[in-house]
Amino acid sequence: MTIAINTATVDIHPDAQRFFDRSHQLFIGGRWVEPLAGGSSVSVDPGSGRQLTTFAVADPEDAVRAVEAAAAAFDETSPWRQMTATARARLLFRLADLMEKHQEELAHIEALDSGKPLAVARDFDVAYAIRHLRYFAGWADKLEGATVPVNVPDMMCRTERVPVGVAALIVPWNYPLLIACWKLAPALAAGCTVVLKPAEHTSLTALRLAELVEAAGFPEGVVNVVPGPGSQLGPVLVEHPYVDKISFTGSTRVGQEIARRAAVGVKRVTLELGGKSANIVFADADLDHAVAGAAGAIFSNAGQVCSAGSRLFVERPVYDEVVRRLSETAAALRVGHQLDPRCQMGPLISQSQLTTVTDYVRQATNSGAHLEAGGPADPQDGVGGLFMAPTVLSNVRDDAPITREEVFGPVLVVLPFDGLDEVARRANDSEYGLAAGIWTRDIAKANRLSSLLRVGSVYVNTYGQSDAAAPFGGFKKSGYGRDMGRQNLEYFLETRTVWTDLRL
Ligand code: NAP
Ligand code: MG
Repeated sequence: MTIAINTATVDIHPDAQRFFDRSHQLFIGGRWVEPLAGGSSVSVDPGSGRQLTTFAVADPEDAVRAVEAAAAAFDETSPWRQMTATARARLLFRLADLMEKHQEELAHIEALDSGKPLAVARDFDVAYAIRHLRYFAGWADKLEGATVPVNVPDMMCRTERVPVGVAALIVPWNYPLLIACWKLAPALAAGCTVVLKPAEHTSLTALRLAELVEAAGFPEGVVNVVPGPGSQLGPVLVEHPYVDKISFTGSTRVGQEIARRAAVGVKRVTLELGGKSANIVFADADLDHAVAGAAGAIFSNAGQVCSAGSRLFVERPVYDEVVRRLSETAAALRVGHQLDPRCQMGPLISQSQLTTVTDYVRQATNSGAHLEAGGPADPQDGVGGLFMAPTVLSNVRDDAPITREEVFGPVLVVLPFDGLDEVARRANDSEYGLAAGIWTRDIAKANRLSSLLRVGSVYVNTYGQSDAAAPFGGFKKSGYGRDMGRQNLEYFLETRTVWTDLRL
């Protein structure tokens, strides 16, 4: 197996280079401040191993400062609380405009920091982040309560929607800016104040976002950004009595820990966790479309996608053909540095992630899985970058670790099935329930199967569609609550019921 390693042929955007060249402190209470313990970290390009920049990292005391700043900004008399909802919306629109103005720069920072291809960073991550801000800005001044027809004479009863308070937003490294904005946009539209903690591997776009928040003119303390280790900052952000709500995207293990800690303080929690999503191809599907879709579902973002279609079920009559065509597609994908315009799949995020993923593949092949494409990389394949070939495995069992556990890499298992009822049962035989794909020309069959699948999103003859207006989240151990859509506003709001005696 060989992987084409190309050095970047696109120059780093000058504004991104300027960002890398300056120093980055913590953003707390509207100011850029040094961490109390003086900690710092280095950001590395996973496609070259080169250092991009250094940035300050918070310790638990800094997280406390950030929470206190967010709480002060949420004080009854604060500028943020006194502001009309329309003025709040204007700030969100202004932030979106600034991000659009700096879209190319943000895309370069994101691509270099996270390893995703530049075009994806620009046209998906940053573009969709902007769209989120605008979508939720539009809701800010439309959060109506109700007049309740109570059965009590001379009494008026009405409800109003009010912000839940201080929200801690804890996000992962696979879509750093985008997932931050999935949470930031509804939180601010609802009138909350926030502390954002980016993932250690990808703190840079959150820091650039903080600069744009400052430039947009948000009152101080409304948005605070504290990079740093989740194991140390997480407990503070979750347990601090001033934090009312935690919105988390990440692993199921950390989500469970957050839920346990948050329960003590009766905090509101939204969890978007892991997945092991089934992608189901029937024999009557348009196979060109299905094969391309199945490849996209697992190899996008090098498989580091919570909703990746990592279990491909193929109806037996077309099984061999799909495995062959998919393996050809995988082998033809151009793996390389994320700034190379020819690159279709970039590196994995970290050495530990690469080791985990290749260990899964080795363990599977040692247990009899057939390697149809790709496979564990030799160390010399990834000189300077954390590359892995798109990998397809057959002859695996439903109960094998590679079929049941989230691998979070470009690794697909392909399993044959016979009939709708069987595949529904096997697809549902997972502790996760995030997403599923169905490929068939028979729309009635697609709808019947869709109704049987215990997952938060079903994609029919497509995969992984996303829009600010469409709710996204999981069943079972994939979490609870939803990001995106009108529904995510609910998780940043409380309902207050007001009774008034009309006889006075
Ligand atoms: P992770 O290890 O759970 O980390 C996620 C975030 O939580 C990071 O900011 C991390 O900080 C922080 N964290 C770590 N330990 C913590 C603790 N004890 N308390 C509070 N926060 C803590 O997940 P990851 O490896 O970054 O991301 C991959 C996972 O995210 C996968 O399982 C994937 O399925 C899931 N994911 C889900 C969705 C979805 O929408 N359902 C979307 C994307 C990803 P550090 O970086 O500093 O450790
Ligand atoms: Mg990095």
